[in-house]
Amino acid sequence: MGQSLKYRGYVFDLDGTIYLGDQLLPGASETISRLRENDARVLFLTNKPIDRREAYAEKLSRLGIPTSPDEVINSSMVAAQYLSQQMPGARVYVIGEKSLIDELADVNLTLATDSSNTDLVLISLDRTLTYEKLHFAYHAIKSGARVMATNPDLVCPMPDDEIIDAGAIVAAVEALIRRPLDLIIGKPSRVMIQVLLDRLDLPPETCLMTGDRIETDIKMGHLAGMGTALVLTGVTSRDQIKRSSTQPDLVLDTIHDLLPAVAT
Ligand SMILES: [Mg+2]
Repeated sequence: MGQSLKYRGYVFDLDGTIYLGDQLLPGASETISRLRENDARVLFLTNKPIDRREAYAEKLSRLGIPTSPDEVINSSMVAAQYLSQQMPGARVYVIGEKSLIDELADVNLTLATDSSNTDLVLISLDRTLTYEKLHFAYHAIKSGARVMATNPDLVCPMPDDEIIDAGAIVAAVEALIRRPLDLIIGKPSRVMIQVLLDRLDLPPETCLMTGDRIETDIKMGHLAGMGTALVLTGVTSRDQIKRSSTQPDLVLDTIHDLLPAVAT
């Protein structure tokens, strides 16, 4: 208690930062409780679109970090919120899983059933991807639908492996249509930054973004005007940091090293 900290708000990526699969990374639980004891604002921000934020909050709580859904922001929730505001009533074709489809239904977006009559193709992590889904999406975009994605990640780290994420499907569709998508919603997009800053309700320079991926977590922190910390427990090695044009303010072996690095 009463420890003086360099930042007032702390935003954490989940996979590769707080946990790997079903295992908390060393120091995660202690670090979060010490930050909360010292009245820091703590939020969790993930690009992962295959569960709703309630599920991430439950998982964190089960693993020993008590968390409410309000403390979690994920790319499918931000996508649903953004589309309900920007494209109300749109007919959306989803390359994605059930939780994303449910999330869109909750904000009254309609699922497209006819590729010539589709307003938007939304690409996400989809472990049930088929030829038919790609074909529908391609035809819909050729017929004038806009095309967006929940997140740009190519893979998501797991304890023994990685799962293929939305970015790989984005790459396939971009190759097909020979142009970039209209918008990619997750980290490091402006859409994600705005939702995050609204929720933090703190000046960005008083907040620290901690994550394991340079091109999403660290890049977003920079774009948002926040401090940045890269942890080496996920997808990035020290060699990769050296080669990157985006440099984090702090490099930590694990989240366990965060508190000493931000204590003043
Ligand atoms: Mg990560």
